[in-house]
Amino acid sequence: MQIGEWADGILSHFVLFLPFLWKKYATWNHRRSDPPSSTLSRWSKERKADHKRNAHKTIPRIYSIMANSTNFELTAANPTKKPRTDDPPVKDKALNGGLAASTKANPPEAKEIHRLDYAPLRYKVTKVSLNFNLVERRTVVESVLTVEKFDAADALTTATDAKVAANDAVDGLDLDGDEGVVALYKLSVDGCDTLVPDVDYILKPGKLIIKAETLRRGASKNSKGEMIVRSTVEIVPEDNTQLSGLYKDGSMYCSQCEAEGFRRITYYPDRPDNMATFESVRIEADTDSFPVLLSNGNLMEEGECEGSDGKRKFAIWHDPFPKPSYLFALVAGDLGSIEGTFTTMSGREVILRFYSEHKNAGKLNYALESLKRAMKWDEETYGLEYDLDLFNVVAVESFNMGAMENKSLNVFNTSCVLADPVTSTDAEYYRVEGIIGHEYFHNWTGNRVTCRDWFQLTLKEGLTVYRDQQFSGQINNCAAVTRIQNVLVVRGSQFQEDDGPMSHPIRPDSYIAMDNFYTSTVYRKGAEVIRMYETLLGTEGFRKGMDCYFLRHDGCAVTCDDFLAAMADANGVDLSQFARWYSTSGTPVVTYSSTFDQQKGLFQLTLSQSSRSEEPLLIPVAVGLLDKQTGHEVTPTTILQLKECTQTFDFAGLKGGVVPSILRNFSAPVKIVPASGVVDENDLAFLASWDTDGFNRWDSAQKLYEAAILKVINQEAHGESLDRVLKTFGQTLKDEGISDDSIRAFALILPSESTLSKSVTIIDPPAILKARNYVKKLIARRFKEDLLVAYKNLTAAIDADGATFKVDGVSVGRRRLRNVYLGYLCSICETGDEQKESAALATEHFIAATGMTDKLAAFSILASMSGEGAIARDSAIEKFYDDAKGDPLVLNKWFSVQADAELPDVLDRVIKLASSHPDFSLKNPNRCRALIMTFAMNAAAFHNEEGKGYKFLGDMLEKIDNINSKVAARTTAACLIGWKNYNEKRATLMKEQLQRLKDMPNVSNDLLEIVTKGLK
Ligand SMILES: [Zn+2]
Repeated sequence: MQIGEWADGILSHFVLFLPFLWKKYATWNHRRSDPPSSTLSRWSKERKADHKRNAHKTIPRIYSIMANSTNFELTAANPTKKPRTDDPPVKDKALNGGLAASTKANPPEAKEIHRLDYAPLRYKVTKVSLNFNLVERRTVVESVLTVEKFDAADALTTATDAKVAANDAVDGLDLDGDEGVVALYKLSVDGCDTLVPDVDYILKPGKLIIKAETLRRGASKNSKGEMIVRSTVEIVPEDNTQLSGLYKDGSMYCSQCEAEGFRRITYYPDRPDNMATFESVRIEADTDSFPVLLSNGNLMEEGECEGSDGKRKFAIWHDPFPKPSYLFALVAGDLGSIEGTFTTMSGREVILRFYSEHKNAGKLNYALESLKRAMKWDEETYGLEYDLDLFNVVAVESFNMGAMENKSLNVFNTSCVLADPVTSTDAEYYRVEGIIGHEYFHNWTGNRVTCRDWFQLTLKEGLTVYRDQQFSGQINNCAAVTRIQNVLVVRGSQFQEDDGPMSHPIRPDSYIAMDNFYTSTVYRKGAEVIRMYETLLGTEGFRKGMDCYFLRHDGCAVTCDDFLAAMADANGVDLSQFARWYSTSGTPVVTYSSTFDQQKGLFQLTLSQSSRSEEPLLIPVAVGLLDKQTGHEVTPTTILQLKECTQTFDFAGLKGGVVPSILRNFSAPVKIVPASGVVDENDLAFLASWDTDGFNRWDSAQKLYEAAILKVINQEAHGESLDRVLKTFGQTLKDEGISDDSIRAFALILPSESTLSKSVTIIDPPAILKARNYVKKLIARRFKEDLLVAYKNLTAAIDADGATFKVDGVSVGRRRLRNVYLGYLCSICETGDEQKESAALATEHFIAATGMTDKLAAFSILASMSGEGAIARDSAIEKFYDDAKGDPLVLNKWFSVQADAELPDVLDRVIKLASSHPDFSLKNPNRCRALIMTFAMNAAAFHNEEGKGYKFLGDMLEKIDNINSKVAARTTAACLIGWKNYNEKRATLMKEQLQRLKDMPNVSNDLLEIVTKGLK
């Protein structure tokens, strides 16, 4: 699953909605080694054979399965016949109706779940058949489960107190189901539909347990001795505002089951270690409203329901690959589509189909092309081939996450799949490509090999994020640009998480609501841990480890330890020290100091580590040395393995003094600080000019800028620091050695307010904004003429390139750099004349924009204008809205930009939009985030010292939690729980809001977990 821009933190939020805001974001360029060859290894040959066995199962085969009593008589014997729609069952007659009423009145206390209490299922579902009868406000779901006893269960139990766990459990089939959503009407175990509650089965909050004795009795009556459990439930997707389980988005039905949504569809062992074959998923719905009926796997049959006069239609899907329930998906709607094909490395043709609302179908082409690139890249880099004949992607407007990797039926938030020059920015194009890659790569890292339990989430997410980062960097030949963007997220939202009350290791030890652990730590730091394997083992060694992992575990639900063992065994190395990364929370700190012996030509670098791990971590630290006199690299990148608390590394044979470039390419997710505690600004200026490592060159300039801004904030003498900043900026602006405009753009951007806030003891957002603006304006005034010339030159180059929209590196780089220039030029706006000049330039840019990147850049500048610029601001707000013509993704930007504006009355504007704008709705997560969360990220405005921003957020969250608790929990986690970093006045006011949310009647478990931890 792609957690999406919001859960992923502040920085990536701006990638999606405000990608032009240079004060928030940055990139650079750097070469990466070539991908490994695509030689087929032994295991991939085996997979090919496996594929032949699985992928082409034909209809006759399916029906032979259906005949095996695992299916509904109706659908099996005659799939075209309309299934029974007996009189609508009366809700309170449901078998679990009493339980539903009592849990609603007295919700059971939230329970913390611990990793070490893992116990495997004693009975597993191995085959499933489902029948969905979609009817407005009463969807009936019938299921047939084939159950097998899992004899090895006891041996695999890791429970700290296995006895307690065993005594607690009733021996039988343990099914999860949310009685508040799923009304159970029929239940039978083969041969018996008159089961006695509490004797044959037990219903308790969230559970239905069929006793072992009941299963055995059923099996004895079954001709094949199989244990078959059938159930019929009713759900109301139209009422599902949580967007978890099956829900209705506008006119379409859609599902989201990760992590625990399937229990909101029917009773089932809703945990990832129950991998079952979904032999038949039959969907039936009104023909006119739902001509497209989709589920996982291959389409076996579709047609008209018998006796319905063409008013009802059905489709039957079969997925040959066993999967956990979280990968199940169902979509039904009146959808437009585009289609393409991809020929795999073994020569098989796969049909690729992308669906969306009809009006958006024209915006799917970029995603389709991205998918082809991703499929090819995975074959070439990892030898991984797609395994079915069909791959579907559906765009959905209301979606909690970014996208979801359901087997062969990916579901995407429209914001992560639609792309069009008029409505999408360059950053959004790249993002679509990255997320398409991410979800596709999950087919192997996530679907074929999945997680044993949710504590292992990073096993699939850390690994797949790493794979999508590799893909994005290599496919666009911009590995360093991608690297800088990724590191900004790690240092931004992930480090912030490490510092706060939600801090957890990449493999957490406990949770109350699993949905709260789709975090930056699990995803981003998880990806950094995977990257460290490759740094330590090399590209070839990493590939060997991946091959071994698939060879051993294809088709299985496994753990992070299994992945580590595959890496270690394939390379013949001991990784037990490295394993500590999985259980260590917080950000490790590495300090450095050095000495140079001129006579011996010996440079000694001493590194020390400190972290929350009791024993030292294994930290790969990439280091290179540059000659102090010439700036030339005298020692190329070397990976130092920091294994002890303190280690000294020798570099001999040097002819003169050197400047070390440490932690190149951000080789480990740590904070790197000088042992003296004071950064050497001269060294930073030197590295900003000379470092051969693109990442560190950029980073050194950022640290230099940061040092100066911090001095302004702290009211320390800053004259010399500012001189260095101006010199470095001037050099970068004019450096003819920089050929890539993106690189120059990123080198000219000042560190974000959020980055700066990580370097102060008490965060004072207005003071940070003020200091940053002061330095920005100083630069702008000093280089105004140069900036204006550079801006005009780029405008001429862009105009000369013709009107065709391109998203190649050169075009994107030009737009990016020109918008940075625009930002500096328009920051000069103190006097009335300056305001007029600035407004005129931005308006011209806005009107002349040929795509969304430029338009949004200008709009965001205009939206913050006041004084003589106010008229230009208001007309831009009006024009942007009119031009949007109701397009939801463009309207999100319209809301977002206004919420992020730097205006004294921004909160009043946001309140007005939230309370009375007809296009605003709390029910749509994208819209809700565009306005509410963007405002909360507008630090200087949100942290207004009177607490008005906090109060507004509290008001909103109270409402949101009722509608969609996952969105509420994520917003709270991102905005309120960091109160310890603010002054007492702000901290008290933030806590007040947390307490208020905690005290709400019927507060959700999702939100409760966050506010409870947040208050500690
Ligand atoms: Zn994912």
